[in-house]
Amino acid sequence: MIQIRIPICSSLAVLVLAACGAPAERTTPAADTVAASEVEAAFANVSTARILAAAETPEEWLTYGGNYDETRHSLLQKVNTETVSRLGVAWTYDLRTSRGVESTPIVVDGVMYVTSAWSVVHALDAATGEELWVHEPDVDRAVGVNACCDVVNRGVAVYDGKIYLGVIDGRLQALDAETGELVWSTVTVDQSKPYTITGAPRVVDGKVLIGNGGAELGVRGYLSAYDASTGKLVWRFYTTPNPEKEEDNAASDAVFAELANETWGDEGAWVEDGGGGTVWDSIVYDHVNDQIIFGVGNGSPWNRTFRDPSGGDNLFLSSMVAVDADTGAYKWHFQTTPGDNWDYTATQTIILADLPLGEDGAMRRVAMQAPKNGFFYVVDAATGEFISGEPFVPITWATGLDENGRPIEVPEARYGTTPILQLPGALGAHNWHPMAFNPDLNLAYIPAQEIPQAYAEDSRFTGDPATWNTGADFAAGTAPDLPPGTLEAIRASLKGRLIAWDPVAQEARWTVEHDNAWNGGILSTAGGLVFQGKLGGEFAAYNAATGDKLWSHDVKSGAASGPGTFEIDGEQYVTITTGWGSAYALVAGMAYPDGVPPSVGKVVTFKLGGNAIIADADLPMVERTPKGEDFGSAEMVAAGTVHFARHCAVCHGQLAISSGVLPDLRWSQITADTGSWESVVRGGALASNGMVSFVDHLTPEESEAIRAYVLRQAHNAVADEATGGTP
Ligand code: CA
Repeated sequence: MIQIRIPICSSLAVLVLAACGAPAERTTPAADTVAASEVEAAFANVSTARILAAAETPEEWLTYGGNYDETRHSLLQKVNTETVSRLGVAWTYDLRTSRGVESTPIVVDGVMYVTSAWSVVHALDAATGEELWVHEPDVDRAVGVNACCDVVNRGVAVYDGKIYLGVIDGRLQALDAETGELVWSTVTVDQSKPYTITGAPRVVDGKVLIGNGGAELGVRGYLSAYDASTGKLVWRFYTTPNPEKEEDNAASDAVFAELANETWGDEGAWVEDGGGGTVWDSIVYDHVNDQIIFGVGNGSPWNRTFRDPSGGDNLFLSSMVAVDADTGAYKWHFQTTPGDNWDYTATQTIILADLPLGEDGAMRRVAMQAPKNGFFYVVDAATGEFISGEPFVPITWATGLDENGRPIEVPEARYGTTPILQLPGALGAHNWHPMAFNPDLNLAYIPAQEIPQAYAEDSRFTGDPATWNTGADFAAGTAPDLPPGTLEAIRASLKGRLIAWDPVAQEARWTVEHDNAWNGGILSTAGGLVFQGKLGGEFAAYNAATGDKLWSHDVKSGAASGPGTFEIDGEQYVTITTGWGSAYALVAGMAYPDGVPPSVGKVVTFKLGGNAIIADADLPMVERTPKGEDFGSAEMVAAGTVHFARHCAVCHGQLAISSGVLPDLRWSQITADTGSWESVVRGGALASNGMVSFVDHLTPEESEAIRAYVLRQAHNAVADEATGGTP
């Protein structure tokens, strides 16, 4: 534990503390008691007991989900249904990035710890936004190509005077909470493979829990526990077998031998790719049962026909898994999508709560999840027993759940080479955006969406590592020249909503329809409020019981992260990070007919009566003119369509329409001639920006075909714009 003593420069405690370079104390003593003394202030003096008691200290935000049950429900109520109309900006802080920001800030002892793109940590005075220190983990930007969904980070953990950070390149780091200096750094993955870390670590009883991502590109998933003091591995639980189905000398060995190995065949792409199943977001400590419950991601490749032709359930893909907190030993699992075929991760928020589900309304401790597949699940926290599940959005892949909670699939859902349009798509009915739960109203608040996807088997599937490797055809449904009205029809099919879900009745209590998909995470408060940001830049508060909108503020950037709240010196603050980035930003420039809202990395913090101004985004203007001639035969442009969809679209936008987070290639100078294009695409001239060479994945002819396709899209857009159609 680190204890430091801050000399008080003056009795004007709050104002001057900031000037001394120290954070404003949460409980500032009265002026006469500090005049001639020192205030003892600890930086992140957090223990398991302190997090367990988080409900009694709602003025802080001690862990990613607000408390160990990850309810994101705060007991603070000075900002409430009566006062929220007076909420205004207290301060803003520039995170100095236009890439995706998904961080929920931790606030402890007057200090805010918040992460930005590329795993950079910023420590701020939580009352003023004044910068205390910045930790830059010096990531080689070339690893950006391994990040399926932008170089985001969802936050840190705090414990025993240290800050714990998962770095995008697979390192886990411990920092001194006071200075930001590195205490230890451990590599948690095989860095020769396309692993990434975007999720927030959690700390329980001296162990730091961290998973990883990378299933789209081909890795084997696991959750690890490291000693919080030393960075030494304590236990690891794999979510898929190793290729020989042999022991790993890991906590998962016994359950694989007992029941999981037999759910995998002996052949298929999983043997090379690792099978996927990455643990990239939800990790929850269930203190009642002294266990860790974590969510497991999709299969690698997505398409089971290629991954494992034997057709098994492939445990523990798309599952909630519970393990002993001390040893990592298996306790139970619940698989939401057996034999995943669609990128239906079950990594989404897991919330623990007591619900009146027993006889005569007796309380039962449950785990709740609304994963990508569109069902809201309630399972017994002690045993994993299925209690109930219903779709929270329209779905087409299954007709319901059987008595064990197993989905009743429609046969066509296991797609062949003919594209099928399906709900949900790979972006899910709910993605990483945190869900919240109000225990007074027994309502879960889901940031839900409808984003249909055309799935088709990729007949060209080769298992090419270090590029997207799903076995599903990303070119399905695209063509070099789309019929008029196609974009409008796609836009009309994209829906987003905030759903207040009653997990006992398994039905929506109220719903707010949004104007687009991919809206932000949720904060619930005892002030009777639900907060949510939107990609259009609106940050709003709703009545928790009715869904009536009570307040909103334009934060001048897309806002997708989970908001938080805290209190300092009797003043309640509400905070959100902006800068939307992430998977949807990279593909969905086409979702916004009038141009995509800017992605501006900021922390925006509100208080009652706040009157600070959020500066307008200073964005470079892009000249929307093609930089080269429309060229290439129909065959060439068609080939370019396929290669673009497979190699380029996940970063530069479906249909070559960028969201602006990464360059819109249609207007890029490098399309002007073969030489410029080649120098970047195969020559790696922009590798230091994250655009690595594709020389191992594209021939010169394929690269040139992509240039022809991109220029065709540029000329098509200009032609459509004349008729008012396309951005
Ligand atoms: Ca995935």
